[in-house]
Amino acid sequence: MVEKRDYYEILGVDKGSTKKDIKKAYRKLAMEYHPDVSEDPQAAEKFKEISEAYAILSDEEKRNTYDQHGHAGMSGFSQEDIFNNINFEDIFRGFGFGGSSRGGGGFENIFDIFGFGGGRRNGPQQGDDILYEMEITLEDAANGLENNIEVPHKMTCPRCNGSRAEPGTDTRTCDVCGGSGQVRQVQNTPLGQFATIRPCGNCRGEGSIIDRPCTECHGNGIVRQKSTINIKIPPGVEDGSRLRVPSEGDVGKRGGPPGDLYVHVRVKPHNLFQRDGSNLHYEQPISFVQASLGDKVEVPTLDGAVDLKIPSGTQSGTSFRIKGHGMPHLRWNGKGNLYVKVKVVTPKKLSPKQKELLQEFADISGDEIYNEEKGFFGKVKDAISH
Ligand SMILES: [Zn+2]
Ligand SMILES: [Zn+2]
Repeated sequence: MVEKRDYYEILGVDKGSTKKDIKKAYRKLAMEYHPDVSEDPQAAEKFKEISEAYAILSDEEKRNTYDQHGHAGMSGFSQEDIFNNINFEDIFRGFGFGGSSRGGGGFENIFDIFGFGGGRRNGPQQGDDILYEMEITLEDAANGLENNIEVPHKMTCPRCNGSRAEPGTDTRTCDVCGGSGQVRQVQNTPLGQFATIRPCGNCRGEGSIIDRPCTECHGNGIVRQKSTINIKIPPGVEDGSRLRVPSEGDVGKRGGPPGDLYVHVRVKPHNLFQRDGSNLHYEQPISFVQASLGDKVEVPTLDGAVDLKIPSGTQSGTSFRIKGHGMPHLRWNGKGNLYVKVKVVTPKKLSPKQKELLQEFADISGDEIYNEEKGFFGKVKDAISH
């Protein structure tokens, strides 16, 4: 029988400490001895000790009883009674214990240590989600894509089928814990029975002993392997979309459900088209002759070239809409549009003959070219001639 230490001494605080001081002292010690972070083999015991001290001293009624009667005064409280006022979530918030994205901040561990809510550690656990990055072309995004991808994830070992034992060898029920994977330790103290439930050390919490571990998974029951998974990317998928493929994440533990696979879709930039939601934009160079006289030009689209009529007198920068040649809408039928912006290209080199003709054109035209823009060019001319 070990004599119980004084609660104030355990937390290293004075008898007159405020609730705030006590919480601060406990948090500091709890960080040190939390079994998820401490290397100390006695960490769980120490953690339990400080938690009990905190549970008593942070509760006014219990603290009064303890101050008056010491440990003897606590005999009326069960373990559950002692801890019922601690809000562990509040204490460990932000410390990220537990590791798993689904974890509740180290709770499972805490409850295992204290022995209520027992069995959580050995219960079914959902597998982790996994993320797969995938890069596709704009064409693929437009047409949709069905593809087989190779995804590495944790799976049930195919050799032992998850039993952890080499096929054909024996698996025995652990005779220390009787197959439950847990042991209950009961300490008799003057204050009554003190029970803790912890993972069985003999079978490491698995409930069974294997004579020869499976050679493929080394007795884990789980292997990391690539699986071929068929995925369908819908037409119109946006860059940055995440597709959920249920149950293709990591396998669950102890019969828990598997996690999900998330496929993160990246759409590569296209060398001709800029995407804006379900619309596409394209810049079409035309000559000043085409712009002046009008013409029919071939414009590329994601579904082949289409003819675009350039009306005579088209200005550089004018945008034309080609209906239904954009990207498919993701949530409803139909497609967005392709916007073709024409850019009038001025020739850089002219043959003597071309120069001659252009000069002739200028002579004939005079001021006429600018008639439509009289307002603007007129002002410029006025400004120059003065
Ligand atoms: Zn195996
Ligand atoms: Zn066992």
